[in-house]
Amino acid sequence: MSGILYLVATPIGNLGDITHRAIEILSSVDFILAEDTRTSLRVLKHYGIATPFFSSVYQGAERQRIPSILALLEDGKNLALVSDAGTPLVSDPGFPLVRAAIDAGYRIVPIPGPCAAVTGLIASGLPLDRFRFEGSLPRGLGERQSLFASLESCEQTCVFYESSHRILDTLQALAESLPDRRVVIARELTKLHEEFLRGNPAQLHSQLSEADRVRGEFVLILEGSDADGPAEQGAVDQLLAALKAEGVPNKSIVRILSQTLGLPRNEAYRVVHSQDDSDRPSP
Ligand code: SAM
Repeated sequence: MSGILYLVATPIGNLGDITHRAIEILSSVDFILAEDTRTSLRVLKHYGIATPFFSSVYQGAERQRIPSILALLEDGKNLALVSDAGTPLVSDPGFPLVRAAIDAGYRIVPIPGPCAAVTGLIASGLPLDRFRFEGSLPRGLGERQSLFASLESCEQTCVFYESSHRILDTLQALAESLPDRRVVIARELTKLHEEFLRGNPAQLHSQLSEADRVRGEFVLILEGSDADGPAEQGAVDQLLAALKAEGVPNKSIVRILSQTLGLPRNEAYRVVHSQDDSDRPSP
């Protein structure tokens, strides 16, 4: 029987962020394919996993390794692909291998876990019902500037990976192209110095210029062009009071708050009914 290629997510900083299933698979496969064996060894040692490495699948060497990896699968060996951090293939090597393994008819099993983009996004406070992942920003300043110019009308929240060497130049470029957009910088996620900086590009540029903050790993999250943000609490209260005073039924108030102020429907429902609860005399 042919082997299985597992794609295993590993921590993005905090070694505790690994699933039971990831540990089980990494311990039981025949070989681990790592982006860089030295980096992965740290995680494997921490969990007492002694599975041998087959070879490094770093960017550049990946295509050369494919025939021998497919031969292992053909031979019935189970393999686990890991990257240096987070989810393999997400801005990391693995795509050509996975495509080749699928084309050759082998089974691929993803083992989900940390991903810096999603980890930063969920705590950003920016809308994420739809979002666009742009991966690593281009290295050239000109290319970054034209990318930002092309995002002028992009409605979704955009997520980028950026390095400490370029983050200040990137914020400067954003301050010129999209000065009024809200931006969130998620720095050193899951690590000791994790922090979220929120503001417009110019504000973040000056915050980040402070000593030490420019070090580390960054996810940059940019508000989309149509993000109205949550409705002001004052506006919600005013409209709610006016509609109640007119005797409008709760069901219609929920609809009006949601349509007029863009309040999510479940939030509008909560606001309307929480007031009913507080009106009720206590037993
Ligand atoms: N595969 C990884 C994932 O699932 O997130 C991403 C790998 S990509 C080569 C590395 C980039 O991810 C870094 O340059 C940084 O932008 C981002 N990143 C990785 N770990 C991070 C962390 N702990 N905090 C913030 N950003 C991180």
